[in-house]
Amino acid sequence: MTAAAPPRLRFLPEGIEVEHGLLWLDAQKPKPLGLVTHAHGDHVARHKTILCTPETAALVRKRQGPGAEFLECRCGESVTVGDLKVTLLHAGHILGSAMALIEGAGGSVLYTGDVRPEGGLTCSPAEFRHADVLVTECTFGRPDHRLPPADETRAEIVAWVHSELESGRTATLLAYALGKGQEMLALLTRAGIPVAAHGTIWNLTDIYRQFGYSFPGSRKLTGKGQRRAAILVPPRYLNVTEVKKNAPLAVAAVTGWSGRARSNRVERVFPLSDHADYDGLIKVAQSVNPKKIYTLHGYAREFAQDLRERGYDADAIPGHSGPPDDGSRPGMW
Ligand SMILES: [Zn+2]
Repeated sequence: MTAAAPPRLRFLPEGIEVEHGLLWLDAQKPKPLGLVTHAHGDHVARHKTILCTPETAALVRKRQGPGAEFLECRCGESVTVGDLKVTLLHAGHILGSAMALIEGAGGSVLYTGDVRPEGGLTCSPAEFRHADVLVTECTFGRPDHRLPPADETRAEIVAWVHSELESGRTATLLAYALGKGQEMLALLTRAGIPVAAHGTIWNLTDIYRQFGYSFPGSRKLTGKGQRRAAILVPPRYLNVTEVKKNAPLAVAAVTGWSGRARSNRVERVFPLSDHADYDGLIKVAQSVNPKKIYTLHGYAREFAQDLRERGYDADAIPGHSGPPDDGSRPGMW
């Protein structure tokens, strides 16, 4: 007779399989039942049934169109999948992002997906629970990836935007379409700054409004002049006509990857991320206090080694190690 064990995981290139295919976590290929922790493209596939929060369901429906069935579960609530109890918990990454606590008769697994303990202006702080096994991302899993307090950086962004608008240049912030874009929209509109957001950012704001967020004084970026408004645009659209019409521009990037964002066009980099920094990842491990940790995404090998030196039983997931190549994962910026 074998001892009781937590739900069985298999780490495959297409995703994490739970209990022989009963459930998949953030799989990249269609599965019968896929848990989608949040709506960034590298965590979503066209599963037959998608288990996720109502916010993520709304975002995925908007991006995928009709097709999938959704098994919606609010953060703090649970669903039964076979013999497992699956509880979704706030992950603090973007609107609707959730961690999954998977409990079976022999133990429990906490899978973080992308996580930011302190949360943001448009998503609740992460809510950790103890589990026997922790599977955690480690995008910023090296001690040189420590970010300043987010509120300080937010205040610097607001001050910079004010000063550029007063000097006659159009303050232009580079932020990706889902998550960072709406965080900046919330920050600037709360500061009373008019904002014009590129369509890729703007077109997702109706989902945010549906879940209680508002962005007064903002509008969609069009070809018409937007003088005296700050512009929000994903990096890849910086050179579109709607943006260039607002020259002279002052361009800043908002990203935890400060070294990677610099270019001739980018004058400032504001170090703000929707991922846990190194200290945040250590806090994840301490909060969950598991018997076993698996690391994936980002500096998985280095972070697993670091955790072992701190006394944890930790291993990197094979095939999910190595530094991110260029910071271009949709969730990176
Ligand atoms: Zn993400």
